[in-house]
Amino acid sequence: MQGAGEKLITPIIAYLIQGNGRNILVDTGCGDPEWSKVHHHPIVQTEDMLLLNVLKGHGVCPENITCVVNTHLHWDHCWNNDLFPGKKIYVQKSEMDFAMKPLPTQWAYYESEEIGLKPPFKKTMDQYELVDGDVDLYPGIQLTFIPSHTPGFQGVLVDTDNGRYLIASDCLGRFDNWEGNGVMRHIPSAIHVDLNQCYRTYDKIEKICDYILPGHDGRVFEERVYPPER
Ligand SMILES: [Zn+2]
Ligand SMILES: [Zn+2]
Repeated sequence: MQGAGEKLITPIIAYLIQGNGRNILVDTGCGDPEWSKVHHHPIVQTEDMLLLNVLKGHGVCPENITCVVNTHLHWDHCWNNDLFPGKKIYVQKSEMDFAMKPLPTQWAYYESEEIGLKPPFKKTMDQYELVDGDVDLYPGIQLTFIPSHTPGFQGVLVDTDNGRYLIASDCLGRFDNWEGNGVMRHIPSAIHVDLNQCYRTYDKIEKICDYILPGHDGRVFEERVYPPER
């Protein structure tokens, strides 16, 4: 909700959580450049950015993904769910309900039938594990309900040797959203369904984590791994 009209070049980020023999994938990225250009905005997608190639770089193939988490069902977070057949995909029930019939301001983000498209999340309907609220996924890994960008948004809390990280994804799309501007402590995303709820979500985030990781900020790539290896 700042700098309207200013163009930003920004990545679309998926996260891989590794530990205790598990590989948990958080979000699965977007469609190809041609699709994106027609239905959203131009993107650059080189071979080394493709999800399966990135996973390979971490020694992971689809078969040894433990499970997938979708923070929400916008097209740029669930497009490649079908690359992981048979794997459970964790989504909040309230997110699934909304995605089936989104508000008009969000039709494009869900690639809704209302605008003649086929929502990408519908490719994997038999794989969803619907959850409600805060849920312990594995020891040290919790799905945390932080709505406002969408009504059923969830982040992932990960305990590490160096503090607790929140994979906030589009709840805090960029570090600026969390770091504020000197006047406002935090800056809400312009894409939201409920601004009051957004501030309640911020109050919650203040209490539950040490660090946040956004969904669309190039600063994330200043480190290859979190916590940073030093
Ligand atoms: Zn989103
Ligand atoms: Zn996004």
